[in-house]
Amino acid sequence: MAQHFLLSPNSRGAKSPLEIARMSDQEAFDLLCEVRWGKDGKQCCPQCGVIRKHHYIKSRKQFRCAEVSCTRTFSVTSGTKFAYHKKSFRDLLAGTAIFVNNVEGAAALRNSSFTGFAYKPTLLFQHKIREAIYEKRDLTPMDGEVEMDGCYFHYYIRPANFKANRIDRRLARNLNPNKRCVIAMRQRGEPGKGAKRTIITVIKSENDQDVLALTTKYVVPGTIVYTDSHNCYGVLAGRYNLKQVNHDEAYSDLDGVNENQAESFFFRLRKLFSHIHKNDPKLLELYANEIVWREDNRRVSFYDQFIDVLKKCLHTGQSRLWSKYWQGNRVTEDCLFSAR
Ligand SMILES: [Zn+2]
Repeated sequence: MAQHFLLSPNSRGAKSPLEIARMSDQEAFDLLCEVRWGKDGKQCCPQCGVIRKHHYIKSRKQFRCAEVSCTRTFSVTSGTKFAYHKKSFRDLLAGTAIFVNNVEGAAALRNSSFTGFAYKPTLLFQHKIREAIYEKRDLTPMDGEVEMDGCYFHYYIRPANFKANRIDRRLARNLNPNKRCVIAMRQRGEPGKGAKRTIITVIKSENDQDVLALTTKYVVPGTIVYTDSHNCYGVLAGRYNLKQVNHDEAYSDLDGVNENQAESFFFRLRKLFSHIHKNDPKLLELYANEIVWREDNRRVSFYDQFIDVLKKCLHTGQSRLWSKYWQGNRVTEDCLFSAR
């Protein structure tokens, strides 16, 4: 039997998190420059967009634009998710390595105690990484064989202490208003290799209008779609080759119809929520998308995942959700998708 990927040297890659944390600040700076601008020693000015060798200010590890009309001073983190950082370059890399290495996701509080940095900046740093991963997600429509399912979060209501005060939690009016459904679509890979790509969306609850709108957007017509026997998926029958499995009878029926890859994703997502302590329903899509990235990159080495996250952070703009947090900027938009 072949060795499990996570036990092989390939799963670790060129450098470990400890080796990254031991880098000098100059080495960390060089790595950030290479990931952002490549190896040829040229930089792109964030103001005028000119790519050339700009003037290097060694004492500040910054650059000054060599274009006479611009002369903007910029650093390797200007206009990126790491903009306005106060920690050293090495600390940025170490923080990213810790985020990547926590394969099931980790609470900011835990990483804060590990690094010795305060809780709030650690939380914001991790959210900025999640935002970069979210902005760079691949939404190309899927084909071949796609599994689709929904999973509910934030639905629990704690019963009152005295029986006389308890409400009927089955009634619609008593449902938790924060209840959300994560719909996952997973494209199957080669047989025996699991799923290769995932797209998620957050909706209020499984219903045929949202399900049809999402599959129309993200799944190519004619694709084989596997779902459970929930009524809302019946609407896909005309447009797709729909195969449903009744979970009351089996998880994988006698014909092999199953949606185990979608269930596997939800298992991993639930694990994340067992690790973190607070989760705002508005941020459910960000958290779920973090698990999408982790699940789809499960056969990629640690170091390659680390470089991938660095690229995402350096090639997306300044954080829209978390910049100016200390000046009062807060996330106000809900992530809910609705076709109605
Ligand atoms: Zn410039």
